[in-house]
Amino acid sequence: MQQRGRIKVVIVDSAFEDASVENMILKEINADVQFFHCKDEEEIVRIAKEANAIINNLLPMSKETISALDKLQLIVRCAVGYDNIDLKAATENKVVICNVPDYCTAEVADHTLGLILSLSRKIPWIDSYTKKGRADFSADWKNFAPIYRLNGKTAGIIGFGKIGREVAKRLKAFGLRILVYDPYLPQKIFENFGVAPVALEDLLKTSDIVSIHCPLTKDTYHLISKDKLGLMKKTAILVNVSRGPIVDEEALYEALKNNLIQSAALDVFEKEPLEKNSPFLKLKNVIITPHIAWYSEEAAIDSRKFASEEILRFFKGVKPKNIVNLEVLKYYPQLE
Ligand code: NAD
Repeated sequence: MQQRGRIKVVIVDSAFEDASVENMILKEINADVQFFHCKDEEEIVRIAKEANAIINNLLPMSKETISALDKLQLIVRCAVGYDNIDLKAATENKVVICNVPDYCTAEVADHTLGLILSLSRKIPWIDSYTKKGRADFSADWKNFAPIYRLNGKTAGIIGFGKIGREVAKRLKAFGLRILVYDPYLPQKIFENFGVAPVALEDLLKTSDIVSIHCPLTKDTYHLISKDKLGLMKKTAILVNVSRGPIVDEEALYEALKNNLIQSAALDVFEKEPLEKNSPFLKLKNVIITPHIAWYSEEAAIDSRKFASEEILRFFKGVKPKNIVNLEVLKYYPQLE
């Protein structure tokens, strides 16, 4: 991409302490890489006025912010979901949006299995009971009944993309039958993975474990509503490591409190960070992790490396690998 002067790359809300990885990659185009921990969009507009490219983490990038940055050509969301960016406004402003879709697939699948095993074997509660010195190692199991055998049970996966497939692979190794709800995939994919495609209602009625792996879109907002939770078995467990707003949290809280389902594990919430007085923190049948499923040392490096490589490609005139608003390419015919 033709550029007058040094290319300015601004990391607006980094989760890290420096820009060493980004600098290492972007020195090839002699980019001026600046690094911030912005708290809100107002601050982004202030500090990124001259930015040609932005690396964004969790802060929203609204129409107002995108329109205010008139040198901006590219935003890379350095993670999988990009529901915090106004794609329509970006395209209207000729701003290319990329994500980094494949830096933590195995980590999120492993975390999901960790949560499923923790819930179904009740490990966090047994651990804390034992550490409090209560265990006599004879009839302790009675305090944790019922625990059901996993082998032979049914797991329902909502969203059968990269992470959903890895979760299915792992669950199969534990002897579970896999049902899938993903209305966007051809039959062939389900056949190849040996899973059964079903309607959402059937998945919820039949599954002992329900695990959510679809993106947050206008179609998936509150996909798991009060009515849908009402279809689940009383003994079922629900895992959400995808995005908080896919589940109606108020309805989930009521379902857990009234034991309409057995338990849940949540890595994501409608509002993050979770408020200190969130009623979920007081529930006995829920495991909570703080949007951490993505994390490993390797994934942390990869997210920054892959994000920087997209910027490198763009400014070298090569089409970035993971453009999410492909219609914007009409403004960049040289990239096609
Ligand atoms: P992916 O794009 O590979 O797969 C998503 C799948 O969901 C696709 O197959 C798609 O067809 C399906 N889908 C879309 N709309 C649907 C709907 N209405 N109902 C059912 N299925 C639907 O994405 P992925 O890499 O598997 O990631 C899935 C999600 O996981 C991301 O969107 C992100 O929100 C979340 N995530 C969370 C963390 C974390 O740390 N907690 C980390 C990475 C990703």
